[in-house]
Amino acid sequence: MTLTTVDVTLVGAGIMSATLGTLLKQLRPELRILLLEGLPREAQESSSAWNNAGTGHAGNCELNYTPMAADGSISLTKALDINEAFDLSRQFWTHLVRDGALGAPAAFIQGVPHMSFVLGEERRAFLRERHRRMAAHHCYRGMAYSEEPAQVADWAPLLMEGRERAQPIGATFLASGTDVNFGALTSQLLDHLRASPPFETRFSTAVTGLRRSQQGGWRLESRDQASGETRLIDTGTVFLGAGGGALTLLQKSGIPEGRGYGGFPVSGLWLRCGDPAVASRHHAKVYGMAAAGSPPMSVPHLDTRLVDGLHWILFGPYAGFSSKFLKSGSLCDWPGSLRPGNLLPLLAVARDNLPLTEYLIGQVFASAEQRFAALRDFYPNAQPSNWTLAVAGQRVQIIKGDPSRGGVLQFGTEVVHAADTSLVAVLGASPGASAAVAISLEILRSCFREKLPADWERALKRILPSYGESIRHDADLCRRIRSQSAEVLGLPAPG
Ligand SMILES: Cc1cc2nc3c(=O)[nH]c(=O)nc-3n(C[C@H](O)[C@H](O)[C@H](O)COP(=O)(O)OP(=O)(O)OC[C@H]3O[C@@H](n4cnc5c(N)ncnc54)[C@H](O)[C@@H]3O)c2cc1C
Repeated sequence: MTLTTVDVTLVGAGIMSATLGTLLKQLRPELRILLLEGLPREAQESSSAWNNAGTGHAGNCELNYTPMAADGSISLTKALDINEAFDLSRQFWTHLVRDGALGAPAAFIQGVPHMSFVLGEERRAFLRERHRRMAAHHCYRGMAYSEEPAQVADWAPLLMEGRERAQPIGATFLASGTDVNFGALTSQLLDHLRASPPFETRFSTAVTGLRRSQQGGWRLESRDQASGETRLIDTGTVFLGAGGGALTLLQKSGIPEGRGYGGFPVSGLWLRCGDPAVASRHHAKVYGMAAAGSPPMSVPHLDTRLVDGLHWILFGPYAGFSSKFLKSGSLCDWPGSLRPGNLLPLLAVARDNLPLTEYLIGQVFASAEQRFAALRDFYPNAQPSNWTLAVAGQRVQIIKGDPSRGGVLQFGTEVVHAADTSLVAVLGASPGASAAVAISLEILRSCFREKLPADWERALKRILPSYGESIRHDADLCRRIRSQSAEVLGLPAPG
């Protein structure tokens, strides 16, 4: 059996491993990094352009990031967290484009306005107040609000054509939003990594086992999917960037920090339209409000997608249930993840989230007509013949123990690492790819501090100009940095 020895092993060839690997190489080029991927090529799961919505999540349009408290006040905290996190991603890509490490930015990021759109008086009052708060903050400078059909039609004509004029509507519009092809970005990052030895990728190679090695790191067992050959890897650090597969591997590692975690898989469907006569008339990512009880990731949106030079519209996602943890996974994934340690949290979540369960059941049994009716709330003149159904990526929502409630369902992303920092896993989905750099920074700080040169944070400051400062609290810094990244990435200038 062959044995390879490396400093770092990245498991999974999605945007997370590609981003962390690139950052590590920028800070310590001599690191020996090996990337293992079970599928024949990179970005075939959640990071594929067609498996996610490609929204550069910046907290501009997602109404679930600005919840309203019982007293009617609206908190911007979560939206600003995400806004700053996405800005770090923009800064990183800007640095890599300037450096020649990434090619033409239009292949992975394009300016597409971000809109929120609501129907009904109550929702409109919420949106009006949300806009009042956001437009006053420099991070959302330039955000416009309107209740006028003519103005909304100017921003997004499909929303208004065929709509009853008496229907109360409200919309916000921010020209500086983005559509990101995370699949194309992952490929470009990996091309750059392959040109930065020592770095090796092994595709069609699944990690099947991992245990601590005597030297203090990990011994991984991998299987070549074509030949069935088993190979061993001795590695100082393991990063489980395996998307939906990360929970399974975390459980296999047996680290105590992973105990109590469970996962709840949620599948998704889109309606997709590539008819140029329709798609070319919509240029915005339009987010609505989630139905009562539904999970935040199922907020419906009518979404411009720019993929491989073509213009598309996606609508959805419609949630569903499949017990697989990856689209290419096995139906045994979810049952196989059940342990005595995560059963109680799971049952507690089922008890506390009945509306979610009802919502998912409703979605699973929704007819084609019901699905289309949801699209017509956004685009009243939509014609079924222009739309096809497509399967979205698989998400695994995190469930973890909670002292007071027994268990909680998390919609965010969670980094779990071994106490000795030799293994780290990213669990969960949202806001996922957009926050890949912020998540990687958290991992660098928690697990790689000692493995990087002493002045790594000074080096980081050259890569991410806002590192150590706060865009949210410094309007000048925010404007300066956003103008620079807009210019390099070919995006609309900030408002
Ligand atoms: C429907 C949907 C919509 C979304 N919309 C957005 C959006 O608009 N904006 C946004 O920022 N984010 C969005 N996300 C989230 C985003 O797509 C994910 O957070 C991100 O792509 C996760 O990247 P990853 O690298 O962790 O995982 P993935 O891209 O899933 O990659 C994991 C890789 O690990 C491999 N793997 C798994 N197990 C093993 C193993 N044992 N051995 C070897 N390889 C293994 C898999 O084959 C896969 O290639 C969305 C997600 C979904 C599902």
